[in-house]
Amino acid sequence: MAKRALKNNVKIGAHVSVSGGFLMALERAKEMGANCIQIFGASPVRWQALLPSLKEAKEFKSLAQKLEIRPIFLHAPYLINLASANERLAKISTQLLKRHLEIANFLGTQGVIFHIGSKGQRPQAEAEELVAKNIKEIFSLVKEGFLLIENSAGAGNLVGDTLEEIGRVIEKVANPRLGFCYDTAHGFEAGVLVDFSNDSLDSFVEKVEKLIGLERWLAIHANDSATAAFSNKDRHENIGQGYLGKEAFYKMLHHPEFRKRPFILEVPGFDDQGPDKENIDILKSLAY
Ligand SMILES: [Zn+2]
Repeated sequence: MAKRALKNNVKIGAHVSVSGGFLMALERAKEMGANCIQIFGASPVRWQALLPSLKEAKEFKSLAQKLEIRPIFLHAPYLINLASANERLAKISTQLLKRHLEIANFLGTQGVIFHIGSKGQRPQAEAEELVAKNIKEIFSLVKEGFLLIENSAGAGNLVGDTLEEIGRVIEKVANPRLGFCYDTAHGFEAGVLVDFSNDSLDSFVEKVEKLIGLERWLAIHANDSATAAFSNKDRHENIGQGYLGKEAFYKMLHHPEFRKRPFILEVPGFDDQGPDKENIDILKSLAY
């Protein structure tokens, strides 16, 4: 009985393809046994993004409800760089992220997960100011929906590889609609969380609480890493096949604060076709 209750309250899902339409993403989720998902709201490599039709949005909302798939997040395009030293690039990035937040709202999803981007040669403090200004602008134009900053692996001049950096941007924006998504592979690669003992998980959670706020921590990207701790190299791996290993996911899935958040896979898949049922089943088997 207790075992079953434990099983039911865990959210385990994946990034799923929207190829064939948004409804197909929900069908794929159902097939693989995911009860929460992440999708692209438009092409991840294009600057254009159209709103779906009203009909498609309505059908998407009702099917998601019927299949009890929740939460649903959009992942922003990779092109976005809110910290860019190139003014035009920063501007069109802001417009594109705004557009994706509109798509997220239109589809009835919970929000958009995005990476801040690279500051280039810009001083750190200046980059953080610019990012905060751009996020504020989006919130002033789009009145609902969440934006979630995802931590990066820390390569090059990327902003947002530490909880401190993300915390400072969040503090500057000062809007309850700015949330946080923790990627376990990026955090490992950046050296944020490399030891998965209970004490280490506790101190990570305390840090999130202090620097970001637990109420803002809305999602987990559950990925193993193909590169070592502190490598700063962003390479996702299937659960149990990387440097984190199954034990790390077992520990996280049994930590009361981690367990409250949806675990969303972004792994290569055992057939290299993206997140699959096999990875979902591994997380489920570790969850209870
Ligand atoms: Zn991620």
